[in-house]
Amino acid sequence: MESIKRNILLNPGPATTTDTVKMAQVVPDICPREKEFGDIMRQLRKDLLGTVHADPTKHTCVLFCSSGTINIDICLNSLLPDNKTVLVVNNGAYSSRAVEVCQYYSLPYIDLKSSVFEQPDLSVVEQTLKNNPDIAIVYTIYHETGTGVLNPVKEIGALAHKYGAICVVDTTSALAMRPINIDEENIDFCMASAQKGIQGMAGLSFIIGNVQEIIKSKNYPKRSYYCNLYLQYDFFERTGEMHFTPPVQTVYAAVQALKEYYAEGEMEKWKRHQRVADAIHEGLREMGLKEVIDPAIQSGLVVSVKFPDDPNWSFEYVHDYCYEHGFTIYPGKISSTNTFRLCSLGQIDVKDIKDFFEVLKKAMSGK
Ligand SMILES: *Cc1c(COP(=O)(O)O)cnc(C)c1O
Repeated sequence: MESIKRNILLNPGPATTTDTVKMAQVVPDICPREKEFGDIMRQLRKDLLGTVHADPTKHTCVLFCSSGTINIDICLNSLLPDNKTVLVVNNGAYSSRAVEVCQYYSLPYIDLKSSVFEQPDLSVVEQTLKNNPDIAIVYTIYHETGTGVLNPVKEIGALAHKYGAICVVDTTSALAMRPINIDEENIDFCMASAQKGIQGMAGLSFIIGNVQEIIKSKNYPKRSYYCNLYLQYDFFERTGEMHFTPPVQTVYAAVQALKEYYAEGEMEKWKRHQRVADAIHEGLREMGLKEVIDPAIQSGLVVSVKFPDDPNWSFEYVHDYCYEHGFTIYPGKISSTNTFRLCSLGQIDVKDIKDFFEVLKKAMSGK
């Protein structure tokens, strides 16, 4: 078999994958309605629960065919009872996506916006809950991919529960990278997609959450047909299948990726991401490049770097130079500051970062 060129993706997902995951997609054609394929998905759903230490008697995992944003859409449109409000604890571009979903569905919402450079203020979250007893969903993000800020999810979840709301958390850029414990961290629903933490392929997304809450949502207002959590859950429970055609080959890749995830181990993988992030910090320091987020509140998964104060700096030139040499860097998502992002996702290690900085130095010394 010809070897596949290895690219180092420093963008926030899709991530660099192993060749074994890539090759897992090359399988005999199969109709996904066959029992054999149903068994594969049943096992995958079960194995995904383990990534957040979910309890199979209390939690379930529901798969969808799409990129990760579908999870945000589904949770918000499916889990909000009539005449209730969503509170979005919003400190960045990716949390803002939830606000846009609320707007598209005309869901009552409160956009609790705060500085993208900081963690949200818990006392303001509590005051908002106190003042608005109709809040049924507190929505936040585990790790804001736009900046690299890690949010105090456990504390936000505790406040949600204190005021009778459920806590829905976008864990897309943390799950299977940083250790997460769904119950201990007061999370009712979390989510991710296969191209991020588990290092699979894009096109498969999943929501892990509380079964009783899903069952309760059966009679909530129906705001979408394709993107309804109860409908997909119920179909899986009755038939073992996705309601509509699953991303067949992507499912095989996810199964292989998850096998590799468990073989590496939750803590070992987290250690690897941390040492990759440390190598990124060190490389930036050596080059005199400045970060925008206080290291004390960083996730260890996304590093936001300020554009250098150099009239000759061109992100596009540097990006293209790095890309030609097998490294992908990614623009920032902070409206007030020009930044780019270097991420520690994917099947990469310290050596890849050292190699990257050699290329970056050449790119920045120009032409
Ligand atoms: C990547 C990501 C998503 C999903 O983005 P898609 O492009 O739809 O896959 C959602 N939330 C967060 C926090 C992410 O990092």
